[in-house]
Amino acid sequence: MADPTEQLFAADAYLSTVEANVVAVDGDGAILLDRTNFYATSGGQPGDTGFLERADGTQIAVTGTVYGDPSKSVIRHLTGGGVLPEPGEKLILHIDWERRHKLMRMHTACHLLSVVCPFPITGASVGEEESRVDFDMADAPDKAEITSQIMRLVSENHPIFTRTIQESELEANPGLVKSKNVRPPRGTGSIRLVCIGDDANVDSQPCGGTHVTETGEVGPVHIGKIEKKGRENRRFRIRFGALDSS
Ligand SMILES: [Zn+2]
Repeated sequence: MADPTEQLFAADAYLSTVEANVVAVDGDGAILLDRTNFYATSGGQPGDTGFLERADGTQIAVTGTVYGDPSKSVIRHLTGGGVLPEPGEKLILHIDWERRHKLMRMHTACHLLSVVCPFPITGASVGEEESRVDFDMADAPDKAEITSQIMRLVSENHPIFTRTIQESELEANPGLVKSKNVRPPRGTGSIRLVCIGDDANVDSQPCGGTHVTETGEVGPVHIGKIEKKGRENRRFRIRFGALDSS
């Protein structure tokens, strides 16, 4: 198994370019680096796309980013093949920032939805234009009401930050996780909490994704549709823009 990839996106979601060294190139054209700002597909958020720039200025397109092992320590940068770098080569990593920033805004909007709709989440998928979150809930909420509650949190411009806690700390103090609908992963030792509000007074929940740093940066979003998926399941679709523009 290859050495772990240093996952720079976890500490700084705004790192759009960074320098890294090639560790290995797999037979299928996947590039392994010593560190990366490319988010790897996980937790409902798709991996980054972009390109890797060689010293001579040529670009290697990255079509997707995934984990290479179940413990999520090695990251594979997928390419379409073609010219590939050599192990040891230094590259400049450019993520498709426009796409990633939309994903960060959308992912954060999903957190805000889970705050105003505090039911167990059964599935979620973050997209550039639309995201969906499935809740285990029997009643049908009003999408205009849910939209206005989300937009209130956006306009209040709460800070968003991460905090790492130990599993033992959480067991002793279960109130550290405010979202009752997300169960923290077990057996990893430490848990990354995404907190919203001063002193996490709006929300805190385990999450490894990338988020914006203030709720105001989410911008206008609305609930486009709420579908019934089975007797006790509702699928919410979040879209960019104001509700009346849909
Ligand atoms: Zn998240």
